[in-house]
Amino acid sequence: MHKPQPQQSGTQAVWGGEEHLPAGGTTQVPIAQSVSFGYDDLDQWQEVALGQRSDHIYSRNTNPTVAVFEEKVRLLEGAEAAVSFASGMAAISNTLFALLKPGDRIVTVKDTYGGTNQLLREFLPRINVDVCYCDTADPAQIEAEIRRGCRMVYLETPTNPTLKIVDIERTARVAHSTGATVVTDNTFATPINQRPLDLGSDLVLHSASKFLGGHADALGGIVCGPKDLIHTIYHYREITGAALDPFAAYLLIRGMKTLQIRVERQNANALKIAQYLEQHPAIARVCYPGLETHPQHEVAKRQMPGGFGGVMSFVLEGDYEAVKAFLPRLHFAHRAANLGAVETTVGPPATTSHVEVSAPDRAAMGIPEALVRYSTGIEDVRDLIADLRQALEAPGNPGPGSSGNVAR
Ligand SMILES: *Cc1c(COP(=O)(O)O)cnc(C)c1O
Repeated sequence: MHKPQPQQSGTQAVWGGEEHLPAGGTTQVPIAQSVSFGYDDLDQWQEVALGQRSDHIYSRNTNPTVAVFEEKVRLLEGAEAAVSFASGMAAISNTLFALLKPGDRIVTVKDTYGGTNQLLREFLPRINVDVCYCDTADPAQIEAEIRRGCRMVYLETPTNPTLKIVDIERTARVAHSTGATVVTDNTFATPINQRPLDLGSDLVLHSASKFLGGHADALGGIVCGPKDLIHTIYHYREITGAALDPFAAYLLIRGMKTLQIRVERQNANALKIAQYLEQHPAIARVCYPGLETHPQHEVAKRQMPGGFGGVMSFVLEGDYEAVKAFLPRLHFAHRAANLGAVETTVGPPATTSHVEVSAPDRAAMGIPEALVRYSTGIEDVRDLIADLRQALEAPGNPGPGSSGNVAR
């Protein structure tokens, strides 16, 4: 019997890709922990090899468990096709190397994820790709650089770690008038909050290790978009080999079942925490697109209809020493280089997103040394706020210009 495809995000995350589970009545996606798939009928094998029949031959190319993960994200992003990877960085690097060639120019923003930034600075110039870095919060500069001509526009929004917003729709319109391909890293927003393809981006990609999996127990990456571009990227991956492992795919599928309710909870927790921190005297600044004081709040409201995400950052009064004193006091947060998990996770850019970047370069990128990235989990927000309060107001904590208790 033909099953209709799920239409809404919550249903797509649960049921997507699961209509053809193997016989035997299993209700859960089995882990096809097999390198290759056997055929007694050579004609059938050849048809699969020639792409005339869809089935599996070798797991570096395709695998049934991995295919279910790809289908879920494809549906959620509203894409024609999707291809997965061993990690988010594999998804990003394979996309860039599959689509760019020597002599090409790429326009991007300064605030990309640290690993992406390193890829753009170290490895693309080696193949003679010219990379143009724009001020993330300056749409006029981004547009002017796109109009000078480029093969690709590479965006990330909200950005890591200062949560700047790039207007995808406006940027894509300019990019398309010059024939450039727009790629958007949607890791921070998730398809629950923001769907870049609807806004004109040609490709959308994720580190699935973050919100998609949501449990900090599996690495993965994925790129979604039109069939022709995805086929080009898939072909590059099938030969270079950064395929997603079936066991990791199983964990990501299991995590994705709760994607919508996790993200809704994280959106709500993060907004309450950002509002709490914004009025706290020990905090110099809060970066969260859901705050009305965020410089691009209006753009965020338009392009993130689902919510503003679970990640924020804030600047403590003081310097890196203040961060070193504050972080160990938090009880309900992992101090770790990760985000998007069910547990709250914190860290400074110096040891997390921008560990690859030198201190002077971080300063040039506008990342203060007293910045803390805070990825809200699904805990009860009352406990999280109480935890932040005791950590901020502990004796000896750097208050505004004092070393004593913050009187409040
Ligand atoms: C973590 C992250 C990546 C890299 O993903 P991995 O799965 O760690 O390789 C890329 N982009 C963003 C925005 C990230 O947060």
